Amino acid sequence: MTRLFNFCAGPAALPEAVLKKAQYEMLDWQGRGLSVMEMSHRSDDYVAIAVQAEKDLRELLNIPDNYKVLFMQGGASSQFAMVPLNLLGKGGIPNYIETGVWAGKAIKEASRYAEGLHIAGSSKDRNYTCTPSQSELQMSDNAAYLHFTSNETIGGLAFDYLPQVDVPLVCDMSSDILSKPLDVTQYGVIYAGAQKNIGPAGLTLVIIRDDLLDQAMAVTPSMMNYRICADNDSMYNTPPTYAWYLAGLVFDWLKNDVGGLEKMAEINTRKAEKLYQAIDSSDFYGNPIAVANRSQMNVPFTLADTALEKVFLAESEKAGLLNLAGHRSVGGMRASIYNAVPEAAIDALISFMSDFEKRHG
Ligand SMILES: *Cc1c(COP(=O)(O)O)cnc(C)c1O
Repeated sequence: MTRLFNFCAGPAALPEAVLKKAQYEMLDWQGRGLSVMEMSHRSDDYVAIAVQAEKDLRELLNIPDNYKVLFMQGGASSQFAMVPLNLLGKGGIPNYIETGVWAGKAIKEASRYAEGLHIAGSSKDRNYTCTPSQSELQMSDNAAYLHFTSNETIGGLAFDYLPQVDVPLVCDMSSDILSKPLDVTQYGVIYAGAQKNIGPAGLTLVIIRDDLLDQAMAVTPSMMNYRICADNDSMYNTPPTYAWYLAGLVFDWLKNDVGGLEKMAEINTRKAEKLYQAIDSSDFYGNPIAVANRSQMNVPFTLADTALEKVFLAESEKAGLLNLAGHRSVGGMRASIYNAVPEAAIDALISFMSDFEKRHG
């Protein structure tokens, strides 16, 4: 068995220690004679797994008691609809910051539920190579919330400041949650699909302040209603039990193996700085994003000679560096270097890049 270095944007690499633990517990979870996959979600054993996962997450992110944690389904893309459905029942104008593909999708979906959606800031005119600055943000009258995407997974663009407004902040944190410490009290709603930094696909995390649970539009489907989800401890129907269990193993890994989010952030910063340094120190490679807004999770890069891209991808794969192709909508290369991608993977990539440049530059 050989595990290679996986730079996939999502579903992404998982910590090897987590996969080993899952493998060890696969057939017989803690002497009960069955797999977690085969357990009733109402059983004492499974509820204990679910409760422990939430407890560890709350500890990692320092989530205050007046916030609920919801374990939902449907991916971050379903949240694009759930946010307006759940927050606009009392009226108001949804405000959005436009920073790239994912913010764009959130805006498009929310427009279906809200008349007069307002773009409070956009960097479209700069080809999404930076975020709009705080001073550029212009909120509408009667704003209900401000939505932004903390890390644009495809563009490799991240906010370097927290928007300051007097309405609840709603954040799509799918690709950078748990990569560094977070002040949850600054947000109304945080959501994230699991398959980048949390666990396997199929699970979606929502962290929501209590007072926002009761503003859903009457048409909101029960399965999409935050209040119903909260009142049923995320078990209104059968939750994605195995994905939830695996997320729990990842939280435990972050807490006990890594040593918490301060430590994780230190490692992530080191990983990203190395890779950007390698890109910047050569004319052969390039990255168009403003330095202050460069993502520490997704690092897109181009070759000066685009004709070499196919060769780069073929050779890197042969060298055991998987999934370095950029998103199908933009091309080029992209290295996603989430929490579970070890520093050794970045070292191997940098050394491959330097060697490739020597041979083809
Ligand atoms: C991956 C991603 C999404 C989409 O997630 P799904 O779970 O596939 O719906 C949305 N937003 C961001 C920032 C992402 O990285």
